[in-house]
Amino acid sequence: MSAALRARALARTFTSRAVDGFTGAVGNTPLIHLKKLSEKTGCTIVGKAEFQNPGGSVKDRAALGVVRDAEERGLLKPGGTVVEGTAGNTGIGLAHVCRARGYKCVIFMPNTQSQEKIDLLRMLGAEVYPVPAVAYENPKNYNHQAREYAASISNAIWTDQFDNTANAKAHYLSTGPEIWEQTEGKLDAFICATGTGGTLAGTGRYLKEKSGGKVQVWLADPPGSVLYSYVSSGGKLTERSGGSITEGIGQGRITNNLGTFVKELDGALHIPDADSIAMVYDLLDTEGVYIGASSALNVVAAYKLAQKLGPGKTIATILCDGAYRYQSRLFSKAWLKAKELEDAIPLHLKKYAVL
Ligand code: PMP
Repeated sequence: MSAALRARALARTFTSRAVDGFTGAVGNTPLIHLKKLSEKTGCTIVGKAEFQNPGGSVKDRAALGVVRDAEERGLLKPGGTVVEGTAGNTGIGLAHVCRARGYKCVIFMPNTQSQEKIDLLRMLGAEVYPVPAVAYENPKNYNHQAREYAASISNAIWTDQFDNTANAKAHYLSTGPEIWEQTEGKLDAFICATGTGGTLAGTGRYLKEKSGGKVQVWLADPPGSVLYSYVSSGGKLTERSGGSITEGIGQGRITNNLGTFVKELDGALHIPDADSIAMVYDLLDTEGVYIGASSALNVVAAYKLAQKLGPGKTIATILCDGAYRYQSRLFSKAWLKAKELEDAIPLHLKKYAVL
């Protein structure tokens, strides 16, 4: 065979296996068996490696979901602008999807988020407006600013990740089926935290339906969120107070994406920041897994749920994104000190705080 023919044959093999651009690479992430925690509890604890999505987080699925939905409904036209209010990861997913599909991307985000995320969004060509981090009730909240901005320009949509259920639908159609197949249907429980509620409700609803209600679905909640007390009090909404180091999760209301699914939850666990930060370091040390604080919170919650449910169970959670996005904070001695979290890191793990 001539060199040219060989090259053409090779290219054919390659392209027949290639996915269709950035959006084709979203999803189908591995499930990681967390061996040490599984051994400790006698359960099988697995984390869905969402940091392996092409934009680096679980939110790539939602970003693609809301854009596809807007295209299908004729709301987003070629050359249009996508506007969103986001703590970062949805924006990063949207910025990638917009570049890949020829849209302009404008992001409003609370000015409390890490510099890494802001820089990355700008590098991906998005226009970014950091705005004061005020409550949802305040008209200056980043979500309201995003909605108003989209309404003020032509051929623009506000993707509305909190209340647009195309977000949860993306998880119902992808994350849920993937976890079910990867555990061969031998799953007892799924637990994760929520920001918009898309991951928890979309994945959880699929797993409950598919298992005929056998899979338990639990919420993991950080400090400063009202959902833990809402679920454990049987539906009483309290005032939001306090905060957390975990970016992208915690909520002050029942979003449309969480919706009525909140009533189907089997329970909720409150996870303090000290436990989450310790798990960031512990997973790095024991498993070599480098994840952000919301993922670590999810793993703490899965571990606590394993202890609650007893040995022999299979429990899945979400590893939402990598620590790369927060390393200037999570691995900084000065930041840990400022957050009064130095003592949360066990002595033998302090060596990882190199910044
Ligand atoms: N973890 C991180 C790091 C996030 O950015 C988000 C989304 N804001 C979540 C978890 C929560 O995902 P969801 O919006 O689907 O509830």
